[in-house]
Amino acid sequence: MKQILIISGKGGTGKTIVTASFVSLAGATSNCEIVMADCDVDAADLHLLLHPNIKEKHKFKGGKKAIIDKEKCTQCGKCVEVCRFSAIETDSQLYNIDLLSCEGCGVCFYVCPEKAIKMEEQICGEWYISDTKYGTLVHAKLGIAEDNSGRLVTVVRENAKNVADKITADYIIIDGPPGIGCPVIASLSGVDIALVVTEPSVSGIHDMERIIDVTKYFGIPTAVCVNKYDLNTKNTKAIEDYCQKRNIKVIGKIPFDKIVIKALTNAVPVVEYSDSKVTKEIKSMWKKLTKIVVE
Ligand code: SF4
Ligand code: SF4
Repeated sequence: MKQILIISGKGGTGKTIVTASFVSLAGATSNCEIVMADCDVDAADLHLLLHPNIKEKHKFKGGKKAIIDKEKCTQCGKCVEVCRFSAIETDSQLYNIDLLSCEGCGVCFYVCPEKAIKMEEQICGEWYISDTKYGTLVHAKLGIAEDNSGRLVTVVRENAKNVADKITADYIIIDGPPGIGCPVIASLSGVDIALVVTEPSVSGIHDMERIIDVTKYFGIPTAVCVNKYDLNTKNTKAIEDYCQKRNIKVIGKIPFDKIVIKALTNAVPVVEYSDSKVTKEIKSMWKKLTKIVVE
């Protein structure tokens, strides 16, 4: 079983469009079993194109937060003095924790002389196992203003792997989170290849370079795809030169085409919507990727 991660240094480069198209192409291949993992848990959107039917729903418990027992609290104010995050408010002599500001460090719990503070585990998201017409999708939703997205990515990855092992899947196709932080690192572990989807803008190049630094650091085989490459051929050339210097293959250059927006509006992967140049390029990339991972 091979794990293919589609990633981008920033959001909005077309990563999910490429991922959904790979899913469609892999699902269309006879005798090819796939499992999908949407690791963009902060802003999951792969489901919009894959139309999952949720079969299992699970709570995701993240870090702990402080809770004050008002019966025991003597309003001494010691917890307010030590809280570095200004998370403890006083309201008509009553002390309350602002859960959005509480970082769960536990300092107030240790200093409270009345043992009026307890640390409670919080439910900060949900994760799901769903059926799609292409195979099983494991996905998640992190609560608003919650952290621990790296841990939730790990939960999604582990469960996708469990499903894939059970059905002896050929591929796990992973829609990675944007950026270069903790969730990205969680999405990289154990993958056979990371495909970086970038665009030929100054910020696109900058973010691509940062994510390539991360994949190289962790020794992950990496390839690049330039989306909307023809919007700035000079920058596309700069991307190709950079990749050549770092010994990274540019396996696809997708042209700009309004057909992609039409496919998105119709909520289907673009490769199912039209037989345009975009579709041909994505098909060619999928072939190259699957060849690289078996070599
Ligand atoms: S330290 Fe304990 S007793 Fe003092 S104000 Fe805070 S919660 Fe109340
Ligand atoms: S756990 Fe830490 S951040 Fe939360 S209220 Fe207590 S001291 Fe402040």
